[in-house]
Amino acid sequence: MRFSAGFWTAVTALMPLGVSGQPPTGELYTVAKVRQLVTELGQPLHCRVRIQVSMVPGLLVSGPGDFYGQDDTAGISVLTGAPVKFASGEWVELEGWAKAGDEGEVELRVARSLSLGVGRAIRPKIVELRDALGRKHEGQLIQVRGEVLQTSVGESRDTVVLGGGEAGTELRAYLRRAAGQASVFTSLAPPGAQVEITGISLPLNGSAHQIRLRSSADLTQIEAPPWIRPSWAISIALILLMLGGAAFLWIASLKQAVARQTAEIRHLMTKAQDSARLKSEFVANMSHEIRTPMNAILGLTELTLATDLTLDQRENLENVRNATASLLGVVNDVLDFARIEEGKLPFREEIFDLNSLLRETMQQLSLTARQKGLELSWNLDQEIPRLVRSDPYRLRQILVNLVSNAIKFTPSGSIRVEGAKESLDQKTAIVLFSVADTGVGIDLDDQARVFDAFAQVDGSLTRQQGGTGLGLSICARLVELFHGQIWVDSLPGKGSTFHFTAQFTIPDESFEAAKDKYLGATPGGHAPVSLRVLVAEDNEMNRRLVVRLLEKEGHQVSVAVDGQEALTLACAEAFDLILMDIQMPVMSGLDACAALRTRGSATPVVAITAHALPEFKERCAAVGMNDYLAKPIHSEELYAMIRKHVARIAMSVKNG
Ligand code: ADP
Repeated sequence: MRFSAGFWTAVTALMPLGVSGQPPTGELYTVAKVRQLVTELGQPLHCRVRIQVSMVPGLLVSGPGDFYGQDDTAGISVLTGAPVKFASGEWVELEGWAKAGDEGEVELRVARSLSLGVGRAIRPKIVELRDALGRKHEGQLIQVRGEVLQTSVGESRDTVVLGGGEAGTELRAYLRRAAGQASVFTSLAPPGAQVEITGISLPLNGSAHQIRLRSSADLTQIEAPPWIRPSWAISIALILLMLGGAAFLWIASLKQAVARQTAEIRHLMTKAQDSARLKSEFVANMSHEIRTPMNAILGLTELTLATDLTLDQRENLENVRNATASLLGVVNDVLDFARIEEGKLPFREEIFDLNSLLRETMQQLSLTARQKGLELSWNLDQEIPRLVRSDPYRLRQILVNLVSNAIKFTPSGSIRVEGAKESLDQKTAIVLFSVADTGVGIDLDDQARVFDAFAQVDGSLTRQQGGTGLGLSICARLVELFHGQIWVDSLPGKGSTFHFTAQFTIPDESFEAAKDKYLGATPGGHAPVSLRVLVAEDNEMNRRLVVRLLEKEGHQVSVAVDGQEALTLACAEAFDLILMDIQMPVMSGLDACAALRTRGSATPVVAITAHALPEFKERCAAVGMNDYLAKPIHSEELYAMIRKHVARIAMSVKNG
């Protein structure tokens, strides 16, 4: 049951306010009992209580005489309606009406009061933070501990919010502060600090606060805020996360940049490779164009030199031949170098006689040496097997290069070529070759440099002697193909010795038969038989050269100027051998050979082409060609090839 405001006005009007002369009368209750009865009955209760003042009058909001008091059982808010003076801790006896307010709070409206004297100071009740939140201790002096979540300092009121660690348990406490007085909250209750506060547990009627402090002494700090707080930890984690994120982004962008650059480099590399390929192709084509006419010049000069000439004519023609030969050397060097750069230097393996190769190469060079008055001698260790498997042309190329250099850079004295056994087993032989001269020698500083491309030690000397500076660098690459090494020992003024090792495979048993054939086929002399040879070549100069070379050896030669004519002739007559140019009008050599094979002809066909590239050899083999001769045609190569075919023909006759 609720009482109207009018009822209260009437009651209070009836009561003499403040401390009257009359002592309080009526039934004496404990505060707890009063609170219980008022709540249970739901109507005002006339009562008498003895309480001790916990918060002195003058401090409360409602009226100047209002205060808080408590006995051993509970606390209560006391309204006097007029100013009274009680000290904190003073015991008083009060008579009046207790009632429940709109929010359920219990108040005592005092009619008569009597001071009983000051007792011992009130000891606050120590409660848990969550117990301080409800009505349980309403009006009582309590003490709680908690962590400061927030502090706010206003004009005359300081507020602190404490947290007990559990969600939804936030306790707000405040202190009224006289104007001009400094706040202790800022220093004692910073966020994160552990504090203990003492104050009156307030009724919850509309107030956001649960505890009211009596003075600044009611706040004590127990523990300063930790150096690092959970809230900071979150910030730090966030910052770390952001840094991590930034680092991740940075790495991602770096990765992207690297990927971009890699793609760019790949693109540039492809471009560079393309241009290197184009360059090599260009060089190969150029060499082809140059070698074709030079082939004719060289061959025809040689033929003319074999005829009767005046002394002047002979000397001039010899100069022509020498100049052409050295020009051809340069072209070959450049072509080889271009191929090496491209990694396409052909290396063809075949079985050959090492001793014969050395002998033939030395014979070829001895003329130049003799002309310079130099002695050229050579020797091959007897222990080294005669028949080996490797690329004889490349081996000859290295030897020719080194011996030519020795001749070139030796004004007088001798040149000695040695082939010594480095190691030998059933399958492989490693030979140590050395070319020693008594020439100008090479400075120690220059010794390593001479194997670099275009390196020439003495500009003036080499200009006088000719050369491209490519020879030794080509040798170095070729030696690699033989799984060997090349180096030089030299004393300036005394001479140089170039050494290189080369590895050869020793042919196994199945090659024994080949050995007899091969050795039998290279007797070194001229072919004893006269063959019927068809030469198909559109270029007149070249045709004449080949015909004359063949006729000189006693062969019977027929000619065709294009592929079509060659095919017709080959079908009409029987030939022992056909030499076929590849590039011809009307019908190419490849087509002519293919047509011949379709018609069942087995006549050996040897391609003649200035295309020095290895792919060509494969194309020739594909249409059924038996062999391949590169332009410019050297008489020795042509004769060697013919000898090989004579041997083959002889074998087939013998076996058949
Ligand atoms: P080049 O075509 O100029 O001879 P090489 O690569 O064959 O090019 O040789 C490079 C240089 O090494 C030569 O120019 C020369 O200076 C030096 N050289 C090569 N062989 C000898 C040697 N036997 N004696 C002295 N110097 C040599």
